[in-house]
Amino acid sequence: MKYVSTRDKTKSISSGEAILKGLSSDGGLFWPEEIPQVSRDEIVKMADENYNARAKRILSKFLTDFTKEELDDCVDSAYTSEKFSSPDIAPLKKIDNDEFVLELWHGPTCAFKDMALQILPHFLTRSMKKYGTDKQAVILVATSGDTGKAALEGFCDVDGTKIIVFYPRDGVSRVQKQQMVTQKGDNTFVAAVEGNFDDCQTGVKAIFSDRSAQEKLYEKGYTFSSANSINWGRLVPQIVYYFSAYADLLKNEEIRMGDKINFVVPTGNFGDILAGYLAAHMGLPVGHLVCASNKNKILTDFIRSGTYDRKREFYTTMSPSMDILISSNLERLLFAASGNDDELVRDYMRKLSENGSYTVNDDILIGIQREFFAGFTTEEATVETIRAYYEKYGYVADPHTAVALHVYDKTDLDGKTVILSTASPYKFPHSVCEGIAPDEPAEDEWALFDILHKKSGLPIPGSLAGLKDRPVRFDTSCDPQQMLEQVTGFLK
Ligand SMILES: *Cc1c(COP(=O)(O)O)cnc(C)c1O
Repeated sequence: MKYVSTRDKTKSISSGEAILKGLSSDGGLFWPEEIPQVSRDEIVKMADENYNARAKRILSKFLTDFTKEELDDCVDSAYTSEKFSSPDIAPLKKIDNDEFVLELWHGPTCAFKDMALQILPHFLTRSMKKYGTDKQAVILVATSGDTGKAALEGFCDVDGTKIIVFYPRDGVSRVQKQQMVTQKGDNTFVAAVEGNFDDCQTGVKAIFSDRSAQEKLYEKGYTFSSANSINWGRLVPQIVYYFSAYADLLKNEEIRMGDKINFVVPTGNFGDILAGYLAAHMGLPVGHLVCASNKNKILTDFIRSGTYDRKREFYTTMSPSMDILISSNLERLLFAASGNDDELVRDYMRKLSENGSYTVNDDILIGIQREFFAGFTTEEATVETIRAYYEKYGYVADPHTAVALHVYDKTDLDGKTVILSTASPYKFPHSVCEGIAPDEPAEDEWALFDILHKKSGLPIPGSLAGLKDRPVRFDTSCDPQQMLEQVTGFLK
């Protein structure tokens, strides 16, 4: 299996090379030349397998330059009972007759990013050995909150790597910030940026395309890599849980093989939902993929109209991991939906960077609308949904999950639907308590943990419980223009 760039499909590389490079040098993203197929027999077999076995099946179809032993080792090092608090890794909970929640936040940082970032460092270090680089990999991350911590945790003290994380100073929750600035590890560095997430992401992309900076660091023994969801190694592990959810529904006799199910995905950078698109194109019986947005509803507008227009106000919401106006992974959907038309993708991306908008042609739009629905929520509706699910079902959702639950409630879907739950309620205790305990006064986030615990009965995750008293290691902040200086400073 070979990978091409969404902006130039003439040259192809292996999956390990794609993971090492992160972003293609032409600015495009890597995408498999062909989408591998999964047979019905295999899906039926998965019903009797655990998460790791399911993961090995799916990953082996894409990472064909990895040996079986290498892949087994990556999977079994990532999804362990020390790191994940649920033996199912990604447990599926039944809410109502046709409604299920797939909880993706039982990993070490309590957000769904762990699903990919626990395994990416293993892919990366294996790939480095395989392709003979003697350099240290420098992982640069722009984060809207959860990626940063999950990447720090995944790469912490991994030999041959350094990790640098930039977050928007006022764009992440108190818990998210505390998780990052207290990160351990000799190879870690964290800085706040005076700007929003898009500023952070644009800054990181600029460093990636700065040839002279790269050459200088290369001489010093470093090579850049990315852990953002543009990296193929981030996307591919996410395909697994779509199959896993289906296999669990089969196992529990909620569906029969071949029945189509829907997925509702709280979406930001379009990585998570794109993994669902890949699963569907591999042969998983999927009805609709529903893209759920918060008040930053650029994707809802795009899927409904065909016009992607980033010239709009940016809102900071209670679901910060979805506060995004440039959904990088959408480029991959455009490539796939246009029948791998790299020239067309180049043209759209040029329009996006020059004019701030583009409109896809009718063929692409019709294709996208056949598979995707889209909806959004307001801030009020998000809190109201947290309250309603608690009262009606006793289910406590974080604000990102609540966005998806709300969109589910508003959308007319046939058959069973799985809503992806992307963060533990404890990561956003303020908004959650606004919904389920509005009258309980609390001094700070830490007091809210106790209220949340009392109300929900959910155990406080060990990694969050001791956070308050952990020493702060990183208090640097910088302008978006100074990000490169921060990088070179740390690598000195
Ligand atoms: C990253 C994130 C999302 C959005 O996922 P994308 O892959 O960027 O679309 C949603 N919820 C939470 C909690 C996240 O951390």
